[in-house]
Order: sequence, then structure tokens, then C-alpha cells
Amino acid sequence: MGLICAPVSVPSTAAAVEAMRRAKAAGADLVELRLDAMAGFDLRELLEYRPLPVVVTCRRRDQGGLRDWEEADRLGTLTRALELGAEHVDVELGSESALRRAGSGRVILSHHDFAGMPADLPGLARDMAGRGMDVVKIAVTPAHPLDCLPLYALCRAAPGPLIAIGMGEFGAATRLLALRFGAWLSYGAITPEEANAPGQLAVADMAAVYRARELGPATRLFGVIGDPIAHSLSPAIHNAAYRQMGLDALYVSFRVPDRPAEFLRAYAALGFEGFSVTIPHKEAALAAADEVDDVAQAIGAANTIAVIREPEEERRRRDSGRFAKLSGWEPVAGWRPAGTDERPAAPASPKASTPEPGTRNPEPGTGGSQSGPLLLAHNTDAEAAVAQLAAAFGGSEQLAGKTVLLLGAGGVARALAWGLSRSGVRLVIANRTAGRGQALAAEVGAEFLPLDALGGLAYDAAVNATPLGMKPNVDATPLPEHLVRPGAVVFDTVYNPLRTRLLREANRRGARAVDGIGMFVEQAAQQIRIWTGQRAWPRLMREAALARLGET
Ligand code: NAP
Repeated sequence: MGLICAPVSVPSTAAAVEAMRRAKAAGADLVELRLDAMAGFDLRELLEYRPLPVVVTCRRRDQGGLRDWEEADRLGTLTRALELGAEHVDVELGSESALRRAGSGRVILSHHDFAGMPADLPGLARDMAGRGMDVVKIAVTPAHPLDCLPLYALCRAAPGPLIAIGMGEFGAATRLLALRFGAWLSYGAITPEEANAPGQLAVADMAAVYRARELGPATRLFGVIGDPIAHSLSPAIHNAAYRQMGLDALYVSFRVPDRPAEFLRAYAALGFEGFSVTIPHKEAALAAADEVDDVAQAIGAANTIAVIREPEEERRRRDSGRFAKLSGWEPVAGWRPAGTDERPAAPASPKASTPEPGTRNPEPGTGGSQSGPLLLAHNTDAEAAVAQLAAAFGGSEQLAGKTVLLLGAGGVARALAWGLSRSGVRLVIANRTAGRGQALAAEVGAEFLPLDALGGLAYDAAVNATPLGMKPNVDATPLPEHLVRPGAVVFDTVYNPLRTRLLREANRRGARAVDGIGMFVEQAAQQIRIWTGQRAWPRLMREAALARLGET
């Protein structure tokens, strides 16, 4: 079981005692007392009033600390902390031989690399483990989540207690994954507001959302890749679903700036079973996959990658027909745009050629692994979005025959256009860039209308698939209020804020407003089904999303 340690970095003894109490209330197992952050301190009082076991640190400025210390004074302070009963002191590599040990407290030997990755991480860890201290701590600064892989190897092979952290946004997932791979503890902020290191999570979230203390070798691994990703709601809703389902599983987010295909392969090899994929990697994920389902192929983008480790497992999927068919869709042998016998045009600017549905990708390096797990690409956006509209009309049969105005021609609009074009609706696409809108309309057999010609359209449903109205531009709307038709369904895929200007005006005009959280939850629930074969509980996922948005 891993532990959660809350750093306490405040200027005075009184503030530190108060912070330690808050750390305990938040659920921390221990606190790290940053003496270098304090203008002055009373060590005896700090230790006497500690409500939790402590790690006492006092780093020099050149070691990442906040003040300059005389070395003798610094190490003397750590020894004094041990004499006063501190459970742990943390000393930088190279200083340990000058530290006089006292009492029964343990010594954490630490190395921080604030600029990058040590050239020989395993060699460094071996050296540190051989220096006779009690715990080894290695904190590095990855420039890509791929840089973090050696940290997990260290955690797995550590001969004794190890702390391994990737600092910064690219190392954010290490704060949980290191525990999954055997690290002794991880650090979390007392409150979200006090998270002063990029990627740092709050103690309460680590414990309750991510089940940090329960992570272990059996924990199943899932994640989301994108850039930016820091504000993704996906970890909140996926982890809430796993908890409710009783699954020992962890879902973490990765900011992947580039090399998404390499990331997917490497983390699949590490043990990940599935990935959500978001902007800007949906097309690259499709190209990276060994196999692509018909829905993703038709849309030209994958929002879901399933990792298949055993060929047997793959065969079972095929036999069950699930690969050719996401829940609710009729199995399709290969999508064709309405009214033609042609396969769809090449998906929107794929980065590499995409494999045919149901076939192995023949191109190594652009998907098509020769060994290792298989990556299967899906897209759950289309079905999730169409399901929202269908529900608003009382079912997919009632949706058929309706006139749907789709605003936008980007990634989400492609998914909607593809899904709606198979739902028997009359689809009308409007988009700022006419050429892009016309191309999508032609591809799916829809009509195109310029934005300034919407006045005469008697639509039954309007769908916003543009970012207009999304935070921070909450005053924007894709449809002028006077064009909102009373009685129509108005579905906004934007969900932050939940009540967009478009939806507020829809309510005012007597239209039926459908917010974007339902689609977001549904596409995630389908991902969980693809990865685990189990059903998640959408209502609970919605509550988790709303709580994260501050909408409860
Ligand atoms: P995208 O690929 O960048 O496409 C954006 C679309 O919006 C394009 O058609 C673009 O028109 C149009 N657009 C952008 N700015 C505009 C403006 N100022 N005025 C008029 N049109 C504008 O984005 P996407 O991936 O499709 O995402 C669109 C939105 O969907 C996101 O912002 C998000 O809120 C929402 N979304 C919801 C979910 C969900 O589960 N509910 C999931 C993902 C995304 P041009 O062609 O002229 O550039």
C-alpha cells in the first residue's frame, strides 16, 4: 500500500502546525515539513504538535530549496529533528555521509533533477540504494510522458522503499502510476488551491478519486492522451465509474505533446488496457492502430484505443461481433456515403495512412505492430451524440425523418454528421468556412447552408458542434436567438459551462435544451464497455462531471 504525503511549505511555526492539521483532515498519511520555506521555526514545537508522521527537509537553494543554509547548520537541524523524534528526514545525495543519525527516524536519500532526466537513471538508483540509507527518492523532470517509463522500471525493481516522481506536467501521471508499480509514497497538495507544482493533485482527490492507497500490481490501467489535458473531466468520470463498478482500475491523464503513436505502443506494453484520445491526437491514433472499426474509419478519427494483449482475446471479440459493431449500431461491412457506391474519401488530413477496417495495418511504424499488444481504434463520439438527440425525441425511431441543423464541420461535427446520416434524418450542415462545410455535407450526403441563410430553415433540432459559448467565451453563441425555433430540440455539445448562452436562449424561446455532458458521459461509458465488457452507470458519471465543473 502506498502512502500520501502532503508538503507543508509555509512561513511560520504556527502556520505549519495549522497546515499539518489540515493535511490530516484532508486524509494525508504524513507531511513533509519544508523548513527552508520558513522564515524562522521552532523545531521542538513543530514536532510536538505534529498530528501525523513527518518528513523533515531543509534544502539549500542549489538543491531546489528556498533559502541558503550553512551546511553544518542544515545537517545539524536534520540531526536535531531525528533527536526530537521525527519519523523521517530527507537529505540530498552527497550530503548523507555528513549527517549524524540519531533516534529511530529513517533517512530518505534524495536526488532532484530540476532540468531533465539523469543520463543513467538505473545506475543512479543503484548507487543511491547502496549508500545505506532507508529510502531512496528520485525526482526528475521529464519533457514527455515517454521519459517517465524508466521510473516505473525502477519502482518495479527497487530493492527497498523508493519514491519516484516525474515533476512538471509531463510527469503528472507518475504521482499515481509510481504507486501502482510499487513506490512507497507519493506527494499531494493539502487542497487543490495549494497545488503549487504542475501536475500535483490534491490529497483528497488522490485518495478518493484515484484510490491512491489501494493501487497495486493488480490495478488495471487506462488513460486519456491529449494536449492540453490538465482540465480534462475524463479522470473524474472514469474513476468514479470504476469505483462504483468495484473494478480495481486507475485512469490517468497524459499531456502528450507529440509522438502519440510511440506513446500508445509504449504504454500499452507497460500494461495499459485502453486509452481515450482527445485533441489533437484523434487522427494520429487512428493511423497508429493495428485495426480500425468501421465507425472510426468512416469518421476519420479515433477517440478510443483498446489494447489487445492476447490473440485469443482478439478472436473472442471478433466472434462476438463487437469489433465490427459498437453497441446499438447495426454491424456495417464498410461504410459508404449515402447515395454512392464509393467508400468515403480519405479522412480529414490523416498523419499516416489508415488501415482498412478489420485488417492488420501493414505499415510498421504507422501502426501495425509486429510484436507486442494490438491497438484497436474505435470512435464512440458518434453514437454518444446521436443517442442524446434520439433520447430528446423519445427514441431513434422518432428521430428518423426529422430535420437536423448541424453547426460546425470540425472533429465533433464529423462524428455527428456520420452518425446522423445513418439515422434517417434530413441533415443540414452550416459552417463558418463554407468549403469545409460543403465537403463534409458531400461526404455524408447532407445539405449545406451558409450561416447567413439559416433564417428560412424549419429544423426540428439544432446541434452546436463548434466551441462557441465555451469558457472563457461564454457570451458567444453559434445561433442568433431569433433563429432558435420554439419547440425544437437544441443540443449543445459544449459542456463547460453546462448552461451555455445557446441553451439559456433556447429555454427562453421555448425550445428543449440538451446539454453536452450527456454525450461526454455516454462516449466514456462506451469506452468502459469496450475495454472491460462491463456497463458503467452514467448517472453517477454525470454527477462526478458536474461536481468537477462546480455545477452541483
Ligand atoms: P474543431 O475540430 O476545432 O472544429 C471547430 C468547428 O467550430 C469548426 O467547424 C469551426 O469552423 C467552428 N468554429 C470555431 N470557431 C468558430 C467561430 N469563432 N465562429 C464560427 N465557427 C467557429 O473542434 P471539435 O473537436 O469539433 O470540437 C468542437 C466543440 O465540441 C468543442 O469546443 C467542445 O466544446 C465540444 N465537444 C464536446 C464533446 C462532448 O462529449 N460533449 C466532446 C468533444 C468536443 P471552421 O471550419 O470555419 O474553422
